[in-house]
Amino acid sequence: MTDVPPPAPGADRHPALDLANTPLALTSGEVDLLATPADATRWLIKRGLAPSDARVYELCADRLRTLRDHIRGLLSAGVNGTPPKPADLEAVNAALTRAPATDVLRWDADRGLHRAAAHPIDQMLERALAVLAADAADLLTGPSAARLAACGSPPCRRFLVRTHAARHWCSVRCGDRARAARAYARRRETAS
Ligand SMILES: [Zn+2]
Repeated sequence: MTDVPPPAPGADRHPALDLANTPLALTSGEVDLLATPADATRWLIKRGLAPSDARVYELCADRLRTLRDHIRGLLSAGVNGTPPKPADLEAVNAALTRAPATDVLRWDADRGLHRAAAHPIDQMLERALAVLAADAADLLTGPSAARLAACGSPPCRRFLVRTHAARHWCSVRCGDRARAARAYARRRETAS
């Protein structure tokens, strides 16, 4: 998929933003970066949310996509300044509280004090969902919240954290397309 734009501003610091941006509306059509279990596995490994030998099955991929859709709902509400849907809040809170989002502190004679996952490996997905839900909550209430925006270049549906006030698109390509559309509209106006 050479078409896929680079991550939107803010997605490097916020895995929840990167998750929210996995359904892509490209000019060539819709692409879901989490369409298959293999896609979901790749995405989780790349974000450091699953070990490199992890394998996610459809049920888990579906849970990841479901949380994504709820996070998208919350981001939309945040951007538009509208009340969030109770179902979106519930889903994120359920993911937040089902598993600890951070590694716990452990001690054994060989390694001494160390951090390790609180749950066995089969609960890897619970932890990944908790981390993503916690990050969504941070994104919506932390210092980035005021700069959260939806890309203003249709058909793009990505979100971004604006690096400066004027920036309203998620990528150079979206900016170019928005400018071209504006120039085209101006030309039509002048012609008529
Ligand atoms: Zn965009």
